Amino acid sequence: MTQGGDLRRNPVSGGLAIVAPARASRPADTAGRGAGAPPCPFCAGNEALTPPEVDAVRPAGGAPDGTGWRVRVVPNKYPALAGRHEVVVHAPDHGAELEGLADEALAEVIRMWRRRIDAQLSSGAAAVTLIGNLGAGSGASLEHPHEQLFATPVVPPVLLDELLEMERYRNRYGSCVVCDEAEAAGERSVLGGPFPAWVPAATRYNGELWLAPAAHEPDFRTADPAALAPAFRRVLAAVKASIGEAPLNFWLHTAPADLRGPFHWHVEFAPRTSTLAGFELGSGIHVVTRAPEEAAAAYRDALPSA
Ligand SMILES: [Zn+2]
Ligand SMILES: [Zn+2]
Ligand SMILES: [Zn+2]
Repeated sequence: MTQGGDLRRNPVSGGLAIVAPARASRPADTAGRGAGAPPCPFCAGNEALTPPEVDAVRPAGGAPDGTGWRVRVVPNKYPALAGRHEVVVHAPDHGAELEGLADEALAEVIRMWRRRIDAQLSSGAAAVTLIGNLGAGSGASLEHPHEQLFATPVVPPVLLDELLEMERYRNRYGSCVVCDEAEAAGERSVLGGPFPAWVPAATRYNGELWLAPAAHEPDFRTADPAALAPAFRRVLAAVKASIGEAPLNFWLHTAPADLRGPFHWHVEFAPRTSTLAGFELGSGIHVVTRAPEEAAAAYRDALPSA
């Protein structure tokens, strides 16, 4: 298997980079599966094309790396970090988008996310970032829909910033900022119930959307998959319907292994309808052209009824 990358830190900015030249050689098939395209390694029947699986859901039993699975987890063949970069193939069917799964199937996928996060956090990872790259231009190199899990030996800067902000907020106001944000979303609210979703007042991306449990819950490993599935599916469907063919990324922020202060897990959806330019990259201040209130209204209109 290909070697993983090398985690380095810029001493001036504190920024982290994974230097992984081997990833440049990974195949890309997002241009479509025309005649002569190599077989998809994530489709049922092609299990031998991936590294040996680390976990799977096989309702009728069966041997690892055989067919008969509903969810399958394999190490990334071109890892950013060796042993710490996994691929969750959420269905054996090449066209199965996450939001197209039935709620029971999606709950099974969510249960697998929990299980892999737990496996990594209990075997020494400092934090786990689960991500989805959806659509051409999102960073996905294989067309078969899947999620990826990155377990890092350090708490990533974005998560660290959130941990510090949540602690500051609690010290100042005595409450959780995510709980308060979800409750105060008002016209930026997209979905209520046990898993509210809202567009933050200050977004980095046009139509950025957050989803979190209404009950204060630091760790995704205690999330209820059956209750989360319909909310996740509806929100994702609404975002995709509303942004058309634009690429979309989402990521899950959950408590690091060594949680000392407050945290509230959440998923962030980032439509990539525009590219970051010099000012955004050079200042960290994002210019968005779509009012969060407008984006939220569009999402509410696009929300599937159930
Ligand atoms: Zn496939
Ligand atoms: Zn909270
Ligand atoms: Zn976050």
